[in-house]
Amino acid sequence: MSSQIQKNLQEECPNKPINAATATSEEEGTVLRFYPQDITVTRNQPLLEMIEKCYVPQVFKDGPQDAEMSIVGGKIKMSQIDKLIPRTPGFDKLHTFTAAKLTANMWRDTVKVLRKTFPDDKKLSKAAEYWDKMPSGTLQISPYGLEDEKNAYYSRGNGSIELKFGYFTDDKGDTIYTCQSSDIVAHETGHYVLDHLRPEFNDSRNVQTGGLHEAFGDISALSFVFADDAMARALINLTFGNLHASANNFAANLAEEFGISLGMPGYLRSADDDYKLSQGEEEVHFVSEVFTGAYYDALASAFKAATQEFTEYNSVTLLQAVSEYARNLLLHAIVTVGGKSPDFVDIANRLYEIIDLHSQNAPAKVAYLQKLKWKTYFETEFERREVSKPVNQLRYAAKKRDMVAEQVRQVRPEKEILTMVCGAHTLQN
Ligand SMILES: [Zn+2]
Repeated sequence: MSSQIQKNLQEECPNKPINAATATSEEEGTVLRFYPQDITVTRNQPLLEMIEKCYVPQVFKDGPQDAEMSIVGGKIKMSQIDKLIPRTPGFDKLHTFTAAKLTANMWRDTVKVLRKTFPDDKKLSKAAEYWDKMPSGTLQISPYGLEDEKNAYYSRGNGSIELKFGYFTDDKGDTIYTCQSSDIVAHETGHYVLDHLRPEFNDSRNVQTGGLHEAFGDISALSFVFADDAMARALINLTFGNLHASANNFAANLAEEFGISLGMPGYLRSADDDYKLSQGEEEVHFVSEVFTGAYYDALASAFKAATQEFTEYNSVTLLQAVSEYARNLLLHAIVTVGGKSPDFVDIANRLYEIIDLHSQNAPAKVAYLQKLKWKTYFETEFERREVSKPVNQLRYAAKKRDMVAEQVRQVRPEKEILTMVCGAHTLQN
């Protein structure tokens, strides 16, 4: 591979591999391919490729597999991946592996950068070392793992961890494969990542700790979009740099094809929401939307301020930097927050402390964003969404969240809707 091609491909995809080593020859790296967004997004959208290429300076075994994750259900040969045809089982395996790998790499890089910046932070080191050990073995990924199921999940059993993706026939007779959605793969991989940084969270019965797990999945999907050069550029061009634009906002809109197949209005969930804790049920997916919405809005405020403050940078660069800065803050807070079952307010309070810490000493690449009012952005959002209110004073109410959700519930059981994408289980045997 010529150095020019290598450079271009790297520019297409900034995500770096596990323990990122610098590749020096073709033998040390691989060009992977994946669906950057659901087909319902890319089908009629010329600014977004249906298939994206991504150079990763890492070599994978047939499967694909490496020490961290492995596709199960029949291997594909790495020497043949260029010949795979999109929307066939072989390509779907490659895509699912790629999206999971890039998501895991994104968070590994975040941990790595935080450890470099805060070498004395023992909680960060301990979490990173635990993850590196892969105590439950290799992540087993089944792209077609759940026949006739409208779901996908991450689970941890005795010495095993797996991601399973469902497929089913929708009302029009089309087969929907949840693995084909990068949003869903990134969401499930987010569960795997968090479970290897704070394993006790997965065992918690606290709805807000469970909600944090779900929010981390959706924030992984958002961050996956922002971290990818091609998608970040397309997003800016399609929304005119307005992260609150509703049209073409494929970053905020999650699991589009899946949501449409369920009769929902274009997506399963939107991160650009305004929910307060008291506006919905005390259920992990609903409360997660409160946290994800706060994170998204704080990020949008930071991005808007950054475009006004740092006019020497273009919008794509700023969007990626703001997302990286926010990602650093969130992961640092989650890894170092006390307790085994934190409420949102515990995460919020720890986040404010981390913001202060980063205002003195932020990871070098994005340190110029220290001067933004991060604490104000997050405090404003957490306050208005009632996250700051003590949990025992909250009265959850099963109010109408919106007309569309209500319409969907009239034709489908409530439980089915609310438990979709996804479950994170700890198996007891
Ligand atoms: Zn989930």
